[in-house]
Amino acid sequence: MTESLIKRRHTRKIKLGGIHIGGDSPITIQSMTTTDTANVTATVDQIKELEGVGCDIIRIAVPNMKSAKVIHEIKENIRIPLIADIHFDYRLALEAINQGVDGLRLNPGNIERRDKVIAIVQEAKQKDIPIRIGVNGGSINREKYPVLSPESLVDSAIEHIKILEDLEYYNIKVSLKATDVLTTIASYQLMLEKRDYPLHLGVTEAGTQFAGSIKSSIGIGTLLAMGIGDTFRVSLTALPTEEIRVGKEMLKSLNIRNDGVECISCPTCGRCEIDVIGITEEIEKKIAHIDKKVKVAVMGCIVNGPGESKEADIGISGGKGVGILFKNGKEVRRIKEEDMVAVVVEEVKNYK
Ligand code: SF4
Repeated sequence: MTESLIKRRHTRKIKLGGIHIGGDSPITIQSMTTTDTANVTATVDQIKELEGVGCDIIRIAVPNMKSAKVIHEIKENIRIPLIADIHFDYRLALEAINQGVDGLRLNPGNIERRDKVIAIVQEAKQKDIPIRIGVNGGSINREKYPVLSPESLVDSAIEHIKILEDLEYYNIKVSLKATDVLTTIASYQLMLEKRDYPLHLGVTEAGTQFAGSIKSSIGIGTLLAMGIGDTFRVSLTALPTEEIRVGKEMLKSLNIRNDGVECISCPTCGRCEIDVIGITEEIEKKIAHIDKKVKVAVMGCIVNGPGESKEADIGISGGKGVGILFKNGKEVRRIKEEDMVAVVVEEVKNYK
């Protein structure tokens, strides 16, 4: 696989649990649980499922003390860093820190008294916990910023940032999410001119799996291609596991991270002699959990199929109800259409 040609823009490196964000650290993919956080079993089960599909960082909503008080128990049962999403109540932030959370998502400007912010910052400093400042188009102060623009998003974020900087706290991550893709892109570009804090990318309220994946791929993908962004979440109105799948695919498309199986397939045409769509979807589902650098090609005919199949590590090119299996560029054998999924999955599992 070709090395990524992307030149990463500099940001400072911060620590989140057992991983780093920013600088030359790998770009990480995040999601957020959809369970009632206080339901530890359901929350842990969902996080484990997300870990299984490649989620690097997980965020949980902490809307009340009941949720804050179970953080320790959740953390004990998961492997990836855990971030608590806090809105206005500083006591929830303090409890989350006390419970051993790895990071906070909190806008200090939303906490109404300075002494309360100081209390959070003191604790966060002591435990070396980063705080993400997250400005969303929908939640910025419209009285102060009547026009939603990259400038107003960045100014709003800087306001929150300054509160922390005044307390000599620099363990910060920043996100600037708008629903409009171009505003999002320009906001992150502008932010990099102002500060070097690591950036959490996202297009907010992106929509359903179909529309949201496209919107996020263009927004987040463009920024990543420009070397901007240290971590990101693909926000979808869909299962959190889908957010991770889309995120991983984005990183693969940009050659940023090549772990996991890459599955390419032909678009099909009148020459197609096997069910490329069904076979590829089935293979993709069955190999999603395999963390190996393998490229698989599923091609519909023997006219253009063998070329791509030979380029891949494992490939099949369809004929009439049969296909030719290729491995490392060499023809291996013929397989029946009904056996293709099982054979390819097995080949991927055994690939060295
Ligand atoms: S590989 Fe064959 S079936 Fe697939 S698009 Fe190309 S020509 Fe058509």
